[in-house]
Amino acid sequence: MLELLKTICEVPGVSGREHNIAAKIKEILTPYVDEVRIDNLGNVIGVIRGTAPADKKKKLMFSAHMDEVGFMVTKVDDNGYMHAVNIGGPNMISASYREVVFDNGCRGMLVPTCGNDGAGQVGKCVVDVGAKNKEEAEKVAMPGDTFTVAACIIPLCGTRYAGHPVDDRIGCAILIDAARILSEGERPANDIFCVFSVQEEINGNGGLTAAYQEMPDYGIAIDVCGVGDMVGSDPMVMKLGDGAAIKVKDSTIMCDWDLVKRMFKLAEDNNIKYQREILLAGGTDATSMQKVAMGIKAGCISIPMRYLHTSAEAFDMEDAVACRDLTVAMCRDAEI
Ligand SMILES: [Zn+2]
Repeated sequence: MLELLKTICEVPGVSGREHNIAAKIKEILTPYVDEVRIDNLGNVIGVIRGTAPADKKKKLMFSAHMDEVGFMVTKVDDNGYMHAVNIGGPNMISASYREVVFDNGCRGMLVPTCGNDGAGQVGKCVVDVGAKNKEEAEKVAMPGDTFTVAACIIPLCGTRYAGHPVDDRIGCAILIDAARILSEGERPANDIFCVFSVQEEINGNGGLTAAYQEMPDYGIAIDVCGVGDMVGSDPMVMKLGDGAAIKVKDSTIMCDWDLVKRMFKLAEDNNIKYQREILLAGGTDATSMQKVAMGIKAGCISIPMRYLHTSAEAFDMEDAVACRDLTVAMCRDAEI
């Protein structure tokens, strides 16, 4: 799964400009599913057809978002500097003086415009692509083009890593790897929809419209969550290395309690390490899916993570494996 994660982290996909990462994920996913399509908004939707008779069959939708936080060029000035605005909530301290990459593969350096004191301020930055003037810079990118901090995955102690954009390519890697495992074993009873959604970081519209198309019985996001074992963090129980985090609530959702309890039981029955997630701030595609049409029972499997939206998003690969195993167990759960 680490190699898969590295591969999909390398492809930029700022919210609303997911075409490159969508093409990559579709290519990797295709051998593992019965059907795959890219919908009107750009979501990649893979389908695994279940074996149960139509009147007994349930629909399970899993959604991992493939977009990432980033930036958009607002103006190129006469000196060739590109002024930019944030798309979603990138951490500006982390992004400052780092290499950035445009959708066309061109590179530059992000520089805060108000000195080191202002490095934390969103929108107060330019990109220096080394251009001598406006004309040369506009050959690299024009106003309206997006860019992101260059990808990296840094090995830390043991099974831990840090990098960017782990939120939420780690969720995409988990969902792809779960589909691979399902394709190599017995076909599940229920229909499984693997959604790689767009625009989660800005509005959640991808997860919402994907759910509207299929009206699943259950909508489960696979995303990252903040933790309590970080310097200065809020009092929360989630920790790196304590296993898959099963969301009970965040600031935008109360997860379906029967679904949450079913997930606890499946983890226990399959010896999958898990922890309860009570997240004080944030939301995922679970919130988007829950409010579709007459409502969908929603939950979320989370990878515990430190330093969200920086270039040092830190996680434990053993937690990611636990999240994948729980995803597979849910797909194989004929009793849900
Ligand atoms: Zn996310």
